[in-house]
Amino acid sequence: MSFLEQYDVVIGLEIHAELNTKTKVFCGCKNQFGQTPNTNTCPVCTGMPGALPILNKHAVELAIKSGLSFGCEISPYSVFERKNYFYPDLSKAYQISQLVYPLCVGGHITLDSGKTIRLNRIHLEEDAGKLTHLGKATGSLVDYNRGGTPLIEMVTEPDLSSANEAVEFLKKVREALIFEEIANCKMEEGGMRCDVNLSLMKKGSKEYGTRTEMKNLNSFKSVQRAIEYEAERQAEVLASGGVIVQETRKWDDEKGESFAMRSKEQAQDYRYFPDPDLLPIQISKENIEHIKSEMVMLPSDRRTRYMEEFGLPEYDAQILTSTRYISDYFEKCVQHFNAPKKISNWIMVDLLKLVKDQEEFTFPVSEEHLSTIIKMVEEKTINKTVGLQLLDKVIETGKEPLALAKEMNLLVTITDEQIIELLEKLKSENAKVVDDFKKTPEKVIGFIVGYVMKNTGGKANSNRVRELIAEKF
Ligand SMILES: [Zn+2]
Repeated sequence: MSFLEQYDVVIGLEIHAELNTKTKVFCGCKNQFGQTPNTNTCPVCTGMPGALPILNKHAVELAIKSGLSFGCEISPYSVFERKNYFYPDLSKAYQISQLVYPLCVGGHITLDSGKTIRLNRIHLEEDAGKLTHLGKATGSLVDYNRGGTPLIEMVTEPDLSSANEAVEFLKKVREALIFEEIANCKMEEGGMRCDVNLSLMKKGSKEYGTRTEMKNLNSFKSVQRAIEYEAERQAEVLASGGVIVQETRKWDDEKGESFAMRSKEQAQDYRYFPDPDLLPIQISKENIEHIKSEMVMLPSDRRTRYMEEFGLPEYDAQILTSTRYISDYFEKCVQHFNAPKKISNWIMVDLLKLVKDQEEFTFPVSEEHLSTIIKMVEEKTINKTVGLQLLDKVIETGKEPLALAKEMNLLVTITDEQIIELLEKLKSENAKVVDDFKKTPEKVIGFIVGYVMKNTGGKANSNRVRELIAEKF
């Protein structure tokens, strides 16, 4: 029996996401990953004496968007504060952040189970530089390029109670931020990181246990493993009569265990005070309405719409909303030709395979051209096989599908007379078919249609062929 069974696990998350701005949050340096170390810096983001920060408006707008995505209240008045501490990756010796007056307050995300996870706040702050530790004998390298990158920090209430819930929550956050183009959330580049606060509460009790914090987890898998490990560790400590120490622990993904780093610091240890170089941010109702008007429907809402309004299966809705691009593409196609399920099939079966293994892609055919091809197939001026050939040719040449189909002589041009002639020929050659059709038409109709198609190079309209068979047989 696991000691954990006597406890409820209590988890709160602090999520950092780098915002999708062109420049850093308080200076004009580029907000770009992967530059040569220490080439993308200036006196402001390295904190030279006398340098003054200037607030990036777009960063504020994106942070507000994130708040609106999760139902937060946007504060009409918020304040930047200096969080003072010394660490080699922070050359200013303070980080500009928000404490007492954050930009966004409250909010929530609903898990698939229906459970609501409350947000405490979302605030805007700057990132620090990056240290690379080479090993004890050699020392560490510091790269200040990341210093001053705009971040949102999302803080949840301690409403999560398992590793699975935490990962589901993070996936929902990531999906929404990417969809709204607020953040790219490239976890492998540190674009989204998560701190986990975890404690155990005796089942039936209302008193929280002492919590520990694990910082900077940057994959769903490490969040999952770190939570499972830490919950077990705390349960074992308590079972053996020990006490949990409030501390920051480092998760070692390779070893699959965490170890104590330092005792947990409190907000007052940082001597926060309002940054005298930056004015408070004042947001009007009009500002918020304007930002709202630029927002798109979130993936979970789109999925509901696709299933309810378009009658798509959940499977289709999931795939079509897996990225903003696919979802927008699908919706544009539907605007051109209102046949959602047909369009969904073409995208899922025929288009996605053309771009598989590509992380970022655009489909090689425009929404308008794809819709035209699907329409031609549905209206039976071409069949699906010819439709696929036409698609290849449109991709190759970029030409308008209908014009191209005419040019390539693909359109159905078989007349009723030609079909009837073929049917008569079949009847005279094959008396058995006529008999069989009289007895069990459903068993031979496919054969007869196939005969006509074969003899017309697949260009006859199969529905019309069926109609004529009914008349002539
Ligand atoms: Zn700079």
